[in-house]
Amino acid sequence: MSEAARVVLDEYEAGELAVQYDDREPQEVIAWALETFGRRVAISTSLDADPMAILDMAWRIDPRVRVFTIDTLRLPKESYDFIDTIEKHYGIAIETLRPDALEVAAMTGKHGPDLFRNAVPLRLLCCDVRKIRPLQRILPDLDAWITGLRRDQWASRSNIRKIELDHDHGGLVKVNPLADWMEDEVWDYIRANDVPVHPLHAKGYRSIGCDPCTRAVAPGEDPRSGRWWWESNAPKECGMHCAIETGGFEHELEVIVDAADDVRAALEATKP
Ligand code: SF4
Repeated sequence: MSEAARVVLDEYEAGELAVQYDDREPQEVIAWALETFGRRVAISTSLDADPMAILDMAWRIDPRVRVFTIDTLRLPKESYDFIDTIEKHYGIAIETLRPDALEVAAMTGKHGPDLFRNAVPLRLLCCDVRKIRPLQRILPDLDAWITGLRRDQWASRSNIRKIELDHDHGGLVKVNPLADWMEDEVWDYIRANDVPVHPLHAKGYRSIGCDPCTRAVAPGEDPRSGRWWWESNAPKECGMHCAIETGGFEHELEVIVDAADDVRAALEATKP
């Protein structure tokens, strides 16, 4: 992996690359990303099968690949154990991003720890505080991020390109090497290459997320139906991979962030 200088693509360049790499194998797309962006690209992993396949491919290309995950502080115990498993298997250290403790305290103090059960805007608020804001703290350190998104996962993902600009996160490059793969192809790769898999997959979980918001699904059910299953007419998205427009939580987010900042300032003022 070269120590590449900062790389910024414009819309035209990203479009050209998207066409060029659209029918390439995931490994070729990953190799391009590692060579182009060096230490300024990282794999985002939810610990799911898709990003595990990507991590394995990338590690075989360059074992120094950067990997990050978001610990929302509501993950199932199995996920914390699985992070240890991955680190030992590959000999890597996963960068773990966590939410701001004062923002979590301001949110749960006002709305309770399980606010996500009460209304879609409150669920989006929780996802924003626990996932999106930690993500936003690492992205300025990157020129590109690699995800395990596939087009067949959900309607909001059906038009993703293998290489695209992420306008929801400042226009950095988003690389989706598995965009045109089906779930079966991911599992074929995992079995053929002895990739470690999250233990909850063996219990019927088709995607991995926070403990209170993710459950097993029955055979034949939509994999994303295991997420936020009590909601109707809401996107099965948290805002990491697309802008959410169900509305109503942005103002509340500002209130939470301001309250946390006030506490921070008060604590600072008490320092000798
Ligand atoms: Fe909160 Fe659930 Fe979103 Fe996790 S998935 S951040 S617990 S609403």
